[in-house]
Amino acid sequence: MQPLKSIYKSPGFWEVDPNRTKVLPFPGKFPTRWAICFRDVQGKKDFRLFTKPDPLVVNGILRRAKGQGYVSLWEFDRGGTIRCSQKNLPRRDFPVLKINAIVCGVYYPWHLYGHGFFDMWMAPIFHKKMKLGAHTFYIYSPYERMLNAGHSSVAKGLQEVAAKSQSVEEIDLGKLPPLPAVIRIQMHCPDCGNHFSKPERYKDLMIRCDECGRLMICQ
Ligand SMILES: [Zn+2]
Repeated sequence: MQPLKSIYKSPGFWEVDPNRTKVLPFPGKFPTRWAICFRDVQGKKDFRLFTKPDPLVVNGILRRAKGQGYVSLWEFDRGGTIRCSQKNLPRRDFPVLKINAIVCGVYYPWHLYGHGFFDMWMAPIFHKKMKLGAHTFYIYSPYERMLNAGHSSVAKGLQEVAAKSQSVEEIDLGKLPPLPAVIRIQMHCPDCGNHFSKPERYKDLMIRCDECGRLMICQ
């Protein structure tokens, strides 16, 4: 594996390439990383962090985002940025600005991942092993007791495509089936009146209002 610093410096790394169909996961239980950068009102960097995705980091970001300035968020694998958000502060939600839905769908095959940058990480995440030809890597699952990756048509399609591939780098994700239809639960925030929806899989889990951040049970 290339050293991280040279990966980051490759041209276009911090831009989302919506046409990329190759997955380049990091080894270990976290296939992706986050980069977080806060700037003050003058545009000077005052906080920068590279980390594995981590709900504890989210809490820190929400605290820091109460101040003035500007925040940039990136999620990436070794091939480049897969989704990003950039917003003026203060704020509590971080809508995804650009996304590569194909590569995101590999790492988060059971999640919706198009709205808030941290949405998937507001409920417990588990690590599922994917076997792709000779390669093994991990993806993120909202279910602890998922028996195997074949439970999702996307993951199943991925395994089928992968079975014909020589390596993770050669998987053509353009051949994946479309995302399955997701039933959504309509939510209404008693604090701010916001109407929003969550995928059915969040039922009975603690979620946040995407407007004011209030915690509530999804039901
Ligand atoms: Zn609210």
